[in-house]
Amino acid sequence: MHFHVLTLFPDMITQGLNTSITGRSIESGTITLNAVNIRDYTVNKHKKVDDYPYGGGAGMLMQAQPVYDAYRAVMKDIQARGKEKEPRVIYLTPQGTVFKQKMAKELAKEEDIIFLCGHYEGIDERVLEEIVTDYISIGDYVLTGGELPAMVLMDSISRMVPGVLGNQESGDSESHSNYLLEYPQYSRPEEWMGKKVPQVLLSGDHAKVDEWRLEQSLQRTKELRPDLYDKWAAENEEYFIKKAKKEERKRRNELKKQKQKK
Ligand code: SAM
Repeated sequence: MHFHVLTLFPDMITQGLNTSITGRSIESGTITLNAVNIRDYTVNKHKKVDDYPYGGGAGMLMQAQPVYDAYRAVMKDIQARGKEKEPRVIYLTPQGTVFKQKMAKELAKEEDIIFLCGHYEGIDERVLEEIVTDYISIGDYVLTGGELPAMVLMDSISRMVPGVLGNQESGDSESHSNYLLEYPQYSRPEEWMGKKVPQVLLSGDHAKVDEWRLEQSLQRTKELRPDLYDKWAAENEEYFIKKAKKEERKRRNELKKQKQKK
C-alpha cells in the first residue's frame, strides 16, 4: 500500500505515522508514505499558496495551482511505477461521507491512495472538481486542517492491509469489523484488586471461549450501540434460531434429569 499525502505540513504526517505499528510497517516496506509539501509547487515568488475568496467572507483559501501541480507530480511517480489504474484521491473535509470501518477495509484493497489535506477555509473548488474521487470526513466537527483526519484514515486502513498487524485475526475481531463491539479482554495477573479473570478464559476450551466472547460482544453492543446491534441481528437471524434451539435442548435435558431423580 502506497500512501501519498498532499499537505502544507508534511512533518506532521511523517512524525505522526512513523511510530508504533504504522512506523514498523513503513520500515518493513509493507506500506510506504510519501508526504508532499504543496508549498514546494507554488509558482508564487513569495511561496504563497493561499488567497482571499472571491465574493468576500472570512479567512483565506488554498489556491488551485499549487495543489494541482503537487497532484501531477505524485501522479507522475505513480505512473513511473507502471501503474495504469487511476488512484483514488481523497479530500479530507467536514462535508464528506463520515468514515467507517467498512471504508477502511475497502480502501485497504487499493495499491495507491492520494490524500489531500485542506487548511485555512479549504481549497478552491475547481481543483477539487478536477482531481478528487472521494470526499471523506472523520466526524461532524471542524478541525484546522486535513492532516489529523488523513492520519486517522491511514492508521485504520493500514490495520486492514495484510502483514501490518502481527496477527490478522486481531483486525477481524475488533470493534466495528462486523457491527459488534469487541468483548472485554484481560491479561496477567489472574486476580487484580480482588477482581478475577472470567473462569472460561482460563479453561483452555477454545470453543467455549469463542462462545463467551461472542455473547459478551452482543451484550456490550446491545447496551452501548443498539443501532449496531440491530444491524448485526438483522444479518444473523440464524444465530438466534440456533441459540433458541440449544436452550430448548438444555431445558429438556434438565427436565429429563429431574424426572430420573424422582
Ligand atoms: N470552511 C470549511 C467548511 O466549512 O467546510 C472548513 C475548513 S477547515 C477549517 C480546514 C480543513 O480541515 C478542511 O479543508 C479539511 O481538509 C480539514 N477538516 C476539518 N474538519 C474536518 C473533518 N471533520 N473531517 C475531515 N477533514 C476536516
